[in-house]
Amino acid sequence: MELLHPWRLDFQQPAPLRSTPVVSLVLPCFNEQEVLPETTRRLVALLARLEAEGVAAPGSAIYYVDDGSSDATWRLVADYAATLPAVCGIKLSRNRGHQNALLCGLMTAPGDVLVSLDADLQDDVEAIPKMLAAWRDGNEIVYAVRSRRDADGFLKRVTAEGYYRLLACLGVQVLFNHADFRLMSRRAIESLRAYEETHLFLRGLVPQLGYRTAVVEFARAARFAGTSKYPLRKMLALAWQGITSFTAYPLRLITGVGALVSLASLLMSAWALGIRLFTDHAMPGWASVVIPMYLLGGIQLLSLGVIGEYLAKVYESTKKRPRFHVEAVVGQAFGAEGA
Ligand code: UDP
Ligand code: MG
Repeated sequence: MELLHPWRLDFQQPAPLRSTPVVSLVLPCFNEQEVLPETTRRLVALLARLEAEGVAAPGSAIYYVDDGSSDATWRLVADYAATLPAVCGIKLSRNRGHQNALLCGLMTAPGDVLVSLDADLQDDVEAIPKMLAAWRDGNEIVYAVRSRRDADGFLKRVTAEGYYRLLACLGVQVLFNHADFRLMSRRAIESLRAYEETHLFLRGLVPQLGYRTAVVEFARAARFAGTSKYPLRKMLALAWQGITSFTAYPLRLITGVGALVSLASLLMSAWALGIRLFTDHAMPGWASVVIPMYLLGGIQLLSLGVIGEYLAKVYESTKKRPRFHVEAVVGQAFGAEGA
């Protein structure tokens, strides 16, 4: 008789560890024409060095993901891909945001080991050999963590610190001072593929994968050239994403506040009744009525807003819209020679 299994175990033994992996560097770029020449120069030199030292296998390459730039970014990427075998490019059909661009690169780039980093050279490329060493020691995910953030402004440092603490309080598993500079093995990448979330917050998602992980420290430099592509608006959106994608705590908080306010109003009613029955004082004036009314109105509207945010998330997710569209690819890995 044929056995019917309700589920099928898709476990694959990890590929035997190769001491010299094909390394893919994945860099999302949005209007990065000022930094691309220097980034390319440094990364091509790094890959050549790693290949010469036998740390990276031939075929290791840089994968730029052009996130719908309006400047010369894609033209530069296409030029490099046409002349340098170690450069490949993926062009998205429009700006989809850093997290989506990064995911596109991670899902598209080949290689045994993928390292994601920013294009503006804030992530120290010299940490990459250390990350590869940690991979050789058997770690599937290696997080690069900023040992110091002198290069960031005071406000950014304080808000970032506060935000990481808030996430930790809410029970979201994130690494302090780790952004998206990390190494992932092929197996970890394939596991990541199984997550079909519409709202991406990779630095919260990747720790959920498990596996053996390691941490490598680096000093975050100032942006090499150009300006930040993360204005306050995008930063706040990402921060909110991090909270609402990983915890329903704000909704629970609303229930708590609701319970507290209800209890307070019950006590207040008892007090008012007590005054009415046992004293001959007049009732307090309108302030005791009007102020709580505004307060409650405010709390209710705020609560509705938070519930609405979660509902909007469900709504977005049910549509299952694709996170990006690839418009063009260049580079040897894709068998495409230029745009
Ligand atoms: N980026 C992107 N799409 C966007 C915004 C940013 O691909 O919509 C890229 C950007 O080109 C860079 C990385 O994300 O490689 C980090 O952005 P940035 O350095 O401007 O952020 P900051 O370091 O100021 O937080
Ligand atoms: Mg930056």
